[in-house]
Amino acid sequence: MGDFIAVNEPLLDGNEKRYLMECIETGWISSEGPFVKEFEERFARRVGRECGIAVANGSGALDIAVKALRLGPGDEVILPTFTIISCAASIVRSGATPVVVDADPVTWNMDVGQVEARITPATKAIMVVHIYGLPVDMDPLLELARRHGLKVIEDAAEMHGQTYRGRPCGSFGDISTFSFYPNKHVTTGEGGMLVCDDPGLAERCRSLRNLCFQPSRRFVHEELGWNYRMTNLQAALGLAQLERLDEFVEKKRAMGRRYRELLAGIPGLQMPAGDCDFADNIFWVFGVVLDDELPFDAQEAMRRLSALGIGTRPFFWPMHEQPVFTGGGLFAGERHPVAERLARRGFYLPSGLALTGDQQARVAAAVREAVCR
Ligand SMILES: *Cc1c(COP(=O)(O)O)cnc(C)c1O
Repeated sequence: MGDFIAVNEPLLDGNEKRYLMECIETGWISSEGPFVKEFEERFARRVGRECGIAVANGSGALDIAVKALRLGPGDEVILPTFTIISCAASIVRSGATPVVVDADPVTWNMDVGQVEARITPATKAIMVVHIYGLPVDMDPLLELARRHGLKVIEDAAEMHGQTYRGRPCGSFGDISTFSFYPNKHVTTGEGGMLVCDDPGLAERCRSLRNLCFQPSRRFVHEELGWNYRMTNLQAALGLAQLERLDEFVEKKRAMGRRYRELLAGIPGLQMPAGDCDFADNIFWVFGVVLDDELPFDAQEAMRRLSALGIGTRPFFWPMHEQPVFTGGGLFAGERHPVAERLARRGFYLPSGLALTGDQQARVAAAVREAVCR
């Protein structure tokens, strides 16, 4: 057995070092440095947007998006229950109420068909989240939002370089957000970005990112923001990564196809859909779901794989089953069986950009051993 294969290892062998050295040599390390603006402009252009606002992380980008759209107490926001805590947290912290829908059993994205039934007079927005590799079916969702006058926040954290019917993910929301955590296709270590087309809204996001300092009276505040600024060091990394996004996307797709071949024929294992009507899977992570016939759950499978030297991560745990929310009276009595099952039977395999073909073969052999034993 070789070394432990980590669930994610980023690839940093482009211009990262050069741009970072430039920061150090020029002394520009804070958020005032020139790479920040350049990264914002290039990233926004890449997803077909007018404005980009770089921030400290993807969770902060969601906090800013919710506040920039003036969502708050009395407002309801519809989102998938099968997602990361950051989505619901940004809504709850604003004082608004999260309203969740279940996942689709094939794409693992929010079941768009369940959204309309959850719209009430208090509904103000839909927070769309693209999960793991395939985008949400946006056209019906955007039509619903238009018909009911709802804002759309698009969390595209896992979708750098992905498209929906040929249009870039990140181009659909009133505000769309990204994360640059090291397992994302473009990483800055920690980092995030908001993109939109409305310069006024972008200005509001910039202010919220920077503690709502006012240009005219700096230390007098009309509103509370955050220090969610991105540093020049982070933006330097981001620029170097962005230069290689097409290559990274191609690599991830090839990795996904290879896993699908290597794992084919293992009984009891659901793999990610390769494509659907509106997109080819980008395989942000390569998830697998254990069939109900297998007499063990994801936790046990992950334990076995770890013993075989393979790193894994569990799938998301649904928002309606989060103690932090249910303890406060949210989601009382709600059941969303698809998400509940995905949480218990799903996990993902090593999927980082630095993963080699040999490592993939070792992962697949270990999965076979862990599942068929
Ligand atoms: C990674 C991720 C986030 C959070 O981003 P951070 O930069 O880690 O705060 C938000 N939403 C989704 C869907 C993500 O995958």
